[in-house]
Amino acid sequence: MAEGRLFVISGPSAVGKGTIVKEIMASSTDISLSISATTRSPRAGETDGVSYYFLTKEEFKEKIDNGGFLEWAEVHGNYYGTPKAPVEKLLAEGKDVILEIDVQGAMQVKESGGEGAYIFILPPSMEELKNRINNRGTETEEAIALRMSKAAGEIAYLDRYDYYVINDDLQEAIDTVKAIMVSEHQKINSKSETLLAKFKEVK
Ligand code: 5GP
Repeated sequence: MAEGRLFVISGPSAVGKGTIVKEIMASSTDISLSISATTRSPRAGETDGVSYYFLTKEEFKEKIDNGGFLEWAEVHGNYYGTPKAPVEKLLAEGKDVILEIDVQGAMQVKESGGEGAYIFILPPSMEELKNRINNRGTETEEAIALRMSKAAGEIAYLDRYDYYVINDDLQEAIDTVKAIMVSEHQKINSKSETLLAKFKEVK
């Protein structure tokens, strides 16, 4: 059975990581995207159980207390977390799993020994990131300034990641993430026991 790998993808808001992940998901049936839980309200077009599991603060706190999260963090004033059970199940079944989470969450997964590829998506420049936030057209001046300062704080974690991908040309960025995913499968690590077992000496 193929071994499942964990891919943790972070990057500042509006860098385009959601689009990259969506395209990767559409190109393969062997990859699963972890559905996070959040206390923020659904945006137009978002469905419960598809985009996120939308929880109340009380429900979220209960899940924290029950040890139900692989990681959780407060992002832009709301709680976000990765439900633990589905990720563990998918990896055990040999499926690849993508977590699209913020730096605080990614560091928690890493510190708890989560073996995987940690990928950081960067904008071509800070000016371009600001343009992309502006182009969303949904943010106030104050919210834009907050997102820009958060972005700088997140990029400061870059050296804790294994790979970076600059999202200038979208297709190139998608192809680069896919190439990282392929190379991760060729990496020799603790999941390589089955490979070793296959190449026992022939007498
Ligand atoms: P949004 O509200 O725009 O969907 O997401 C805001 C931020 O929360 C993004 O940076 C996203 O990566 C992060 N995020 C989404 N789900 C999770 C999660 O399960 N855990 C953590 N730590 N961050 C998350």
